[in-house]
Amino acid sequence: MVRTAEIAGAGFAGLTVAIELARRGWRVRVHEASPELRAFGAGIFLWENGLQVLAELGVQDRVLATSYEATRWEERDSDNGELGSRPLPVPGGLRMITLTRRDLLTALVDAALESGVSITTGSRAVRADDGALCTEDGSVRDADLVVGADGIRSAVRDSLDLLAEHEVFDLGLYRFLVPLDRAPSFDGQWRCYANYWNLRSKRRVLYVPCNERELYLGLGAHASDGALSQPLDSSVWCESFPVLRPVLSELPAAPRYDRYEVLRARKWSSGRVAVVGDAAHAMPPSLGQGAGTAMMNALNLARSVADHDDVVAALRDWEAENRPLTEHAQQESVAIARNLFPVTPERRDGWGEGAVAVARNVPKAGESS
Ligand code: FAD
Repeated sequence: MVRTAEIAGAGFAGLTVAIELARRGWRVRVHEASPELRAFGAGIFLWENGLQVLAELGVQDRVLATSYEATRWEERDSDNGELGSRPLPVPGGLRMITLTRRDLLTALVDAALESGVSITTGSRAVRADDGALCTEDGSVRDADLVVGADGIRSAVRDSLDLLAEHEVFDLGLYRFLVPLDRAPSFDGQWRCYANYWNLRSKRRVLYVPCNERELYLGLGAHASDGALSQPLDSSVWCESFPVLRPVLSELPAAPRYDRYEVLRARKWSSGRVAVVGDAAHAMPPSLGQGAGTAMMNALNLARSVADHDDVVAALRDWEAENRPLTEHAQQESVAIARNLFPVTPERRDGWGEGAVAVARNVPKAGESS
């Protein structure tokens, strides 16, 4: 008999579970609340663990073809003085790449459709009962497995009273894409990933080439800083970072603003309902591991249940195996977020072993049927 899954959320986590289950013969439907499939937030870093998940899903080559891999990460002050730098890939060969969220989502959506996943847009999950997903239109869909991959404000999680802790930090990031050819030059520091720090005003610009054409910029500051008020005043940012004037002088009209947040679920499942990704374990972006960890846990979730007749027991084993490293990633990223200004020597000169341990957590290869 064909086993079935109903998944809330066509983000990175939901699509990963969906692809893996469909490739293992399950009938899978993904419900996406938005009227169209869209990834917000400009660019994204993926470390080795995320890349290996993509390899297991058969989409790594597609993703690499649209991505960028810098050979150095730099820390600079607002006058362009070098504060520190780290070679890439990280020693041990752990890769870190960047790409637009649009390109990552497109690769996953294409793979999901090719695997036979059915994706319904404009379908908002409102709650889950054991073995059923309920959507806003009143439908109740039974399934062997229900997954809440519906992001940090997960309706599925909250309907099961699984939230343990949620903290919103006094820090935020505006993210947007600008043409890479606005950079002052096509080589040298302008091809590196870089943090530019203005330690007087406690502002930061994250400078991230994403591909040959697009540059991802993140403007960071404490949430109370007037420089974050909408509409963004580019002259304030150009004054804080004169060297970045060419890329900051024309800011897009409505860039995406997000606060840093950390969230822990009491349990990652209740009966045959699992929560995964930001719905269960969101973390501040300071390690660039939220999506990587979400996809890793999502792949492992699909593999655990697909290999097991008893879904409830499989979900318990999955949480026991994956939760410790996820909590470690959350602790590391929270520690950095709490101490973002000033830049600590460890962050200037290299990634801590704690950050690298998360990137090293790659799935076992070749298990899908
Ligand atoms: P989401 O990406 O939030 O996807 C959830 C999906 O569910 C969305 O499509 C949403 O529309 C849909 N949905 C919501 N509610 C419902 C509902 N009720 N019913 C149906 N569908 C619903 N991570 C990295 O790995 N690298 C980075 O560089 C990085 N940078 C970041 C920068 C910032 C400023 C922030 C805030 C986060 C960053 N992250 C990064 C974290 C990363 O974005 C998240 O961890 C990741 O998007 C989580 O994926 P997800 O699929 O769990 O959730």
